[in-house]
Formats: sequence, structure tokens, C-alpha cells
Amino acid sequence: MQQIVLASGNKGKLAEFEQMLSAYGVTVLPQNHFNVGEVAETGTTFVENAIIKARHAAQITGLAAIADDSGLEVDLLQGAPGIYSARYAGDKANDQDNVLKLLDALKDYPAPRSARFQCVLVYMRHGADPSPLICQASWEGQIAFEQRGTHGHGYDPIFIPEHQKLSAAELSSDEKNALSHRGKALAQLLAMMQAKGVFTGGNSQ
Ligand code: IMP
Repeated sequence: MQQIVLASGNKGKLAEFEQMLSAYGVTVLPQNHFNVGEVAETGTTFVENAIIKARHAAQITGLAAIADDSGLEVDLLQGAPGIYSARYAGDKANDQDNVLKLLDALKDYPAPRSARFQCVLVYMRHGADPSPLICQASWEGQIAFEQRGTHGHGYDPIFIPEHQKLSAAELSSDEKNALSHRGKALAQLLAMMQAKGVFTGGNSQ
């Protein structure tokens, strides 16, 4: 069975990739299965950081690797928190700390407070792959004035997707996946991997 290492320790992401790739005869293994630790995300863009993570996992394991990098860009804040979304309120910050810091940073601004989630996915055949497959998708919306909803994670309770009245945290996971930056980037990556003949076994129809 073909194996791909996922350059993340996040269980939710692992489940998503496993579900998507098992039909193609691919086993997805998390990088900690191979004792691969986290690498410093020293890039200044989502795409650089996703490449850094995929390359690190592929180099250490000798396997093909997938990595993702995502975050929230707020136009009134010149794209912040951007690549720093997970640690906007500090290295030890949790989702709630980050959400409260963002609401505070925007407290003097009226609607519309336009923003978007970004997601970059990278597939590297091996640690020296000079032409990784790269997909990027975004999800447009606005930052609300207060938190609503209990689903999802991160900034979902204050993100109102375009054409929606509900926050992302009030959508079901199926509804969110059909619209979200990550859902769209995953669909693109799957199509690109198929087109490039990555899958060597399983049902790739
Ligand atoms: P990472 O790509 O897992 O490092 O995620 C970066 C950060 O961006 C997360 O910790 C969240 O704060 C934020 N983020 C990325 N995607 C989403 C989303 O779908 N909903 C809410 N927050 C998100």
C-alpha cells in the first residue's frame, strides 16, 4: 500500500486526509509516527511554511509528504493575523485568547470588516522535490462583533462567511467543509494528484 506522511500532528486533519485518500489505496501516516518533530515555520507566507513542513517530513521519513498551512487575513489589519493566526495572542495562546485579541483590535471599526481564511496544501514526492504540487484556496467573509456558535475551532465563532447569516461555528462540519478554504484546497489537491499520476493503486476512479 502506498504511504504518504502528513506533516502535522493534528488528529482532525489526519482523519480528513485519511478519509480522502483511502479510496485511492493510500495510507496516510502522521509525522509523529516516525518521530518527526515540529519544524520552525520561518517563512513569511503560507506557501513557504507549507513547503518547509512538507520538505522536513519527507526528508526525515524518505516518504512522500503532504503539509498544510492556513490562517485568517483581516483587511483592516493589513492581512494580520495571517501566518501568525495560531499564535496571534502569544506562543501559548489558545483559540479564545486569539479571538478576544482580534475583537479588541477591531473594536473601533464599523462593519464591513472583510476577511478571509486561506489554506495552502503542498504535496512533495520526496525531500528534494523541485516541483511540489501546490494548491491554495480561500473563504471570504467578515469579522463579527461578538462570538456565536460552538462548532469548529479557531476563529470560527467570529467569522461570518459571505452569503451567510450564521457564523462558521454555527455551521455543521459538512456544511463548513463544502464551503471552506480547506475543503476547496483538499478537492483541488486530490484532482491534481490524480492528474499527475500520484496514485499507483486502489480505486482512483
Ligand atoms: P494551522 O494551519 O493548523 O497552523 O492553523 C493556523 C490557524 O489559523 C489556526 O490555529 C486557527 O487559528 C486559524 N484557522 C485556520 N483555519 C481555520 C478555520 O477553518 N476556522 C477557524 N480558524 C482557522
